Amino acid sequence: MHTPESEAHRRDAADPGHRHLFHVPPAEGGRHPDVAYLAGNSLGLQPRATRDELVADLDAWRRLGVEGHLEAERAWLPYHELLTAPAARLVGALPTETVVMNSLTVNLHLLMVSFYRPAGERTTIVIEDSAFPSDSYAVRSQARFHGLDPGATVVRLKPRPGSDTLGTQDVLDYLAREGHTVALLLLGGVNYLTGELMDIPAITAAGRAAGAVVGWDLAHAAGNVPLALHDWDVDFAAWCSYKYLNSGPGALGGVFVHERHHGDPSLPRFEGWWSTEAATRFEMTPVSRPPATVEAWQISNPPIFAMGPVRTSLELFDSVGMPALRERSLRLTGWLEELLDEVTPGRPLTVVTPRDPARRGCQLSVRIGTGSANELTKRLRHEHGVIADAREPDIVRFAPVPLYSTYHDCWRVADALAATVPVSARSEPGLRAPQSRTEGGHSR
Ligand SMILES: *Cc1c(COP(=O)(O)O)cnc(C)c1O
Repeated sequence: MHTPESEAHRRDAADPGHRHLFHVPPAEGGRHPDVAYLAGNSLGLQPRATRDELVADLDAWRRLGVEGHLEAERAWLPYHELLTAPAARLVGALPTETVVMNSLTVNLHLLMVSFYRPAGERTTIVIEDSAFPSDSYAVRSQARFHGLDPGATVVRLKPRPGSDTLGTQDVLDYLAREGHTVALLLLGGVNYLTGELMDIPAITAAGRAAGAVVGWDLAHAAGNVPLALHDWDVDFAAWCSYKYLNSGPGALGGVFVHERHHGDPSLPRFEGWWSTEAATRFEMTPVSRPPATVEAWQISNPPIFAMGPVRTSLELFDSVGMPALRERSLRLTGWLEELLDEVTPGRPLTVVTPRDPARRGCQLSVRIGTGSANELTKRLRHEHGVIADAREPDIVRFAPVPLYSTYHDCWRVADALAATVPVSARSEPGLRAPQSRTEGGHSR
């Protein structure tokens, strides 16, 4: 690699980010005190503010017991409302359209209760063949729940031959051909495996024009790329908060339901006492009175000690702002790409993430032509203090996160790959068709 380490330090001095607001894990050994953490797309790092905020919520319980519901500084009954406005700003929604609750797959199910309603010839659920397995299992079980054969009901869109990623055009072509059969289009905004960013507004418009409901799994998009869910007319969306949103393992996720669906009595919905309007909740009537907002999709009273870390993180995103984060993200990921382009030639390594920055977030996925992805990431970690993420059999994912990653982290990735992966006599001849990594689903 010809780019010197000093160039990384020069760039970090000029474009420092917000690393000082986070705990970065120490490296086990080697020449650098901290790890180069490129796995924020899997589990984000802990903001320094989180611990004190969490302890403050615990203290309210210690001091107030049950009275904390109303008397805690951040009263528990309306606690979720503290998260609503920053979550809405993060995804480009109205405050009435977003709520933080449950975890992602649970939320996808609750939303599909309302928005997957197969009828007549319109029965299919369309996902991408490289969908995250949890989403695959969720949609298959929804098909079975409706008495349908998941093999015939779930359509998995594959990239065209010779391509590693599903292009927006592939989805539009499918909709043009088969849109009349689609009940629900449920894609990842940023694909977890390839890092590809779909054209969410174009696909949403085409899906809705074809008469389908369009939902988005934004697990890898929220906090990674700018979103405008309201203006894009998305029907519904859900995301988790432990990846780019740095809210801790298993953190509560977020939900978006477009306001045109609010208060629609024809939509089936599962309910509990948090689905009824707050003003009369404690009248404990036998019949609910759901508000005409996304809060009607809530069911249970939320786990307060899990809300605190999400609140802390959303406040951080609010103070920095997605536009500034995206700008830094483009610079940082662009530089990682340049460095990878220095080390991949001659090595069995191929960047499969789209080269166009407009078609990706911060993650770059590298396919390794020989050996196992798990083995490589272990060596990167133990020999170089580089934390990346393996997706067997052959993908290693690197995510320079604009809040806390550095140019030096990117430099360490390339340096470690150069040291770990030998130059091969016969290198991979560029792209090859991806293999399906998920259950052997049906594909049309
Ligand atoms: C991370 C991720 C999940 C995880 O689901 P949980 O219900 O939060 O465990 C689901 N779908 C996608 C696309 C993901 O990236």
